[in-house]
Amino acid sequence: MYNNIGAKIKVLAQVIAWLGIISGVIAGAVIMSESVGVGFGVMIGGALMSWISSWFMYGFGELIEQTTRIAKNTSFDDSGQKKHFAIACKCGTRNEEGMSFCQNCGEPINTV
Ligand SMILES: [Zn+2]
Repeated sequence: MYNNIGAKIKVLAQVIAWLGIISGVIAGAVIMSESVGVGFGVMIGGALMSWISSWFMYGFGELIEQTTRIAKNTSFDDSGQKKHFAIACKCGTRNEEGMSFCQNCGEPINTV
């Protein structure tokens, strides 16, 4: 239900933008029968405002998508726990991630 929420927000942002643009045009057309100048302003202004405000929502969706992608590539697993990587030293000893020096020979461990 909440999978791929970033993509859903992006779709919703587009739907809301179009609804805003359409309702702006309709409202502008209605007002235009009274005053052409004001109606035209509402039409353009309303459509423009809907479009611009949708950028923020779309951007938020984009942000979630990218963050999810980054999170998948980092050393955290799905439950948010940090994965432990064993780092092999030149001497053959496998040291836990975070160690600066080998537990066996005391050589500095290069974490690349
Ligand atoms: Zn070592």
